[in-house]
Amino acid sequence: MIFISAGHHNNDPGAVANGYIERDLTKDVRNIIIQNLDVKNVIQDKDFETNAQYQRRIKPGSGSVVFDIHFNSGNPTVGGTECYVNQKDFADKNSLSYKMADEICKLTSKILGIRNRGVKPDSLSQHSKIGILNLGSGISVLWEICFISSVLDMQSYLQKKNELLKEIVNILRKYDAQK
Ligand SMILES: [Zn+2]
Repeated sequence: MIFISAGHHNNDPGAVANGYIERDLTKDVRNIIIQNLDVKNVIQDKDFETNAQYQRRIKPGSGSVVFDIHFNSGNPTVGGTECYVNQKDFADKNSLSYKMADEICKLTSKILGIRNRGVKPDSLSQHSKIGILNLGSGISVLWEICFISSVLDMQSYLQKKNELLKEIVNILRKYDAQK
């Protein structure tokens, strides 16, 4: 089972920059990915749910993949892609979470031609612990696709979005099959 979420919801726009709203971008990404997956095998967040409500509703077990989608934000000159995993998965470079996150970072960096900022533990995020990465799922990855605040990142993302998301679907399928 793949649990996929758009990171933000109706009352939580996330980052806003250059005319883009993170929530709208992540919903679009989620919807495109789901269109290319077997719906019987997917559970998604509802846009009216808060992150806490979604996290309480889902019960991803050890056989599941949890995938949460975000865009990063910062100084206009900063760009690149990165993924977060929980501290335990970060400590074990052979964990499937770490491997999937590493593959997603490398793929995104290659297709978009942006910097690979690498896989990071949730302890280094702005929150000391990210709830959705600690629900007991077999694989949990939070993807920061690129910087919404970077004109170059967003130009590249909008040009290469379809190619990128097609490859992400393949990675999700591959790791779901290993769990
Ligand atoms: Zn976000």
